[in-house]
Amino acid sequence: MSIPPNPQYDSQYSQHGQQYGRPSKMSESSLRLVWVYPDLLSTYGDRGNALVVERRARQRGLGVTRIDVRSDQAVPTSGDIYLIGGGEDRPQRLAAERLRNDGGLVRAAENGAIIFSVCAGFQILGHEFINDLGQREPGLGLLDVWTTRGEGARCVGDVLADVDPQLGLPQLTGFENHQGVTHLGEGAKPLARVQVGRGNGTGDGTEGAWRDTVFGTYLHGPVMARNPAVADMLLKLALDVSALPPADTTWYDALRTERIAATTRPA
Ligand code: GLN
Repeated sequence: MSIPPNPQYDSQYSQHGQQYGRPSKMSESSLRLVWVYPDLLSTYGDRGNALVVERRARQRGLGVTRIDVRSDQAVPTSGDIYLIGGGEDRPQRLAAERLRNDGGLVRAAENGAIIFSVCAGFQILGHEFINDLGQREPGLGLLDVWTTRGEGARCVGDVLADVDPQLGLPQLTGFENHQGVTHLGEGAKPLARVQVGRGNGTGDGTEGAWRDTVFGTYLHGPVMARNPAVADMLLKLALDVSALPPADTTWYDALRTERIAATTRPA
């Protein structure tokens, strides 16, 4: 990828001796952002995640090619960042079937792609989940997690969660609405620990999971609009840099402040 000359991009934004703008993982002249199955998986405004990642990249002068892949299309294997959202139980089963048959997302993961998934998308990335027919449905096995069906009430409501310190992100705000309960195997780390809300629903306080460049969360909001630092993290991974030039966060901050206050306010 080639970045236009811009004094903002200097060596302070490079790591591993690599110039910002010459990332190892990006082969095209612009960042390839793949939004997987908008026709099946985009509940609660998860589409906003694609818009925010795109916007945060453009704010830094990065070119972005957004590829929206419907469920009757092949998932390209050469993307840099893949986003997959939440969905109702039946579309979730269809999405899992098609993604297994297509194989593109698995190949992209094998190529080291960055994948960020929400709710139904998160469950699909795991080994299996319970589908709308009450049967065990295989996932893609890209995260060492599996999902059972919660016996109690759905997990619904606003969430505040402290992110794994290794990721260096501020507290997550979002909202959840799911019946699935997600269990983590040894190969996956919790993305965060809930302060408010249920997260993975296991009762152990964990929320989401991650490994290398593959992430899952139960948070909608859309999560990137409430937490632009998450979008920035994906961009940093794609560019293989440790920092990005600053970009305005006024509106994101206003939304965060409002939602965090609403979540912590006594009922
Ligand atoms: N259908 C899944 C569940 O209820 C995921 C829901 C969602 O994506 N919001 O667990």
